[in-house]
Amino acid sequence: MTDSVRTPPAPEFAYRDGALFAEDVSLEQLATVVGTPAYCYSQAALDRRYHEFADAFADQNAMICYAVKANGNQAVIAALARQGAGADVVSEGELRLAIAAGVPPERIVFSGVGKTRQEMAFALDSGIRQINVESAPELEVLAEVAAAKDRTATVVIRVNPDVDARTHAKITTGTAENKFGVDLAHVPEVYARAEALDGIVPVGLAVHIGSQLLELTPFRSAFTKLAELVAELRAAGHAVSRLDIGGGVGIRYGSESPPDIAGYAEIVRELLGPLGCELIVEPGRAMVGNAGVLLTRVLYVKQGVERRFIIVDAAMNDLLRPAMYDAGHAIVPLVEPAADAVYEPADVVGPICETGDSFATGRAMPPLVAEALLAICSAGAYGAVMASSYNGRLLVPEVLVHGDRFAVIRPRQGFADLLAQDSLPDWLSQEAQPAARIAAGRGSV
Ligand SMILES: *Cc1c(COP(=O)(O)O)cnc(C)c1O
Repeated sequence: MTDSVRTPPAPEFAYRDGALFAEDVSLEQLATVVGTPAYCYSQAALDRRYHEFADAFADQNAMICYAVKANGNQAVIAALARQGAGADVVSEGELRLAIAAGVPPERIVFSGVGKTRQEMAFALDSGIRQINVESAPELEVLAEVAAAKDRTATVVIRVNPDVDARTHAKITTGTAENKFGVDLAHVPEVYARAEALDGIVPVGLAVHIGSQLLELTPFRSAFTKLAELVAELRAAGHAVSRLDIGGGVGIRYGSESPPDIAGYAEIVRELLGPLGCELIVEPGRAMVGNAGVLLTRVLYVKQGVERRFIIVDAAMNDLLRPAMYDAGHAIVPLVEPAADAVYEPADVVGPICETGDSFATGRAMPPLVAEALLAICSAGAYGAVMASSYNGRLLVPEVLVHGDRFAVIRPRQGFADLLAQDSLPDWLSQEAQPAARIAAGRGSV
């Protein structure tokens, strides 16, 4: 599926005289300075995507609130905020990151099925735009928290429209089987309850049916149901002035052809425009996914009995998407292959002791030798944020390119950081070890 992709799917990453650049920075030089593996993002790509959304929705009274969970690096959030983006956050941690990165609180919305009282209190104290309530019990707790602070919570109710997003099961969120939102049938009751509660002001509804949607049809179904619900609520005497339409627009990893943003905005205008509501749009992946690559170095090329294995220094702990979502990312060398290079199937795998630690299986790859540098494309979203130290591996750095400049926006972890994460209880401390006790003449064998 990704066989045909020989350059990253974003114009900010391109070959110049045979070397892959991010904007005006040679990625080979960057990798030499920063080392591998490393994430590299293009600020121009972030800016461009923000403006594609902002322009597409320019005439619809819409606020573009970047979904921080796709990439929570403060420099990435700051770059988008600089262009005018608000933020959609799903935890107190993300809320703090967004505020620290310069997103005005009145442009921040707080989603998520399991907000704690502490998170609600912090959100109310911060003066954010709205809290997206996902259940009746959450609404009651929020009312208590708001009352205790003598504050008012502006809320929208997240609706589960029971629409199949036709995407990977792990990122489908809008069917009746999913944990997200309030069932369509119960929304009028929950909305009425919200209006009755002191300290709660319901202003509208939210939907988010899934991620990496490649067709407009599921959006169409969800927005149609949303519009019907607004009419029903209004007929019952409720004010509905705000609609949060979520994120979910897919991107190209390989040969996909995702909806263009203008087409997406057009169906929003058609289906929701007549309601005259203020809109909130929450793109995550579509904003940052193709603005980043993961740079990695070939450690070994191993010719197996049946296959060629390209063993690289990046692994599933750095980029989980292939293992988690069966995702296929394009993988391209930083040195452009010759025009007549023969592409042959290979498995591109990481060093981790799991068969799932694989970036590509049977992928047509050009000739490669040890030490060659590669870019794993479309790694800007759900990449660095999902990284872990599994297998005792150090978290990799993130770098932001801006024109001919680049800056490390998160340093590579060191072994000292890794060791400092844990501490031993006193009964396991060095003095309590038998060897130490014996040496000290306090124990017997
Ligand atoms: C994850 C999420 C988003 C962003 O989804 P993408 O597919 O990355 O655009 C938007 N809104 C909510 C509520 C989310 O949970």
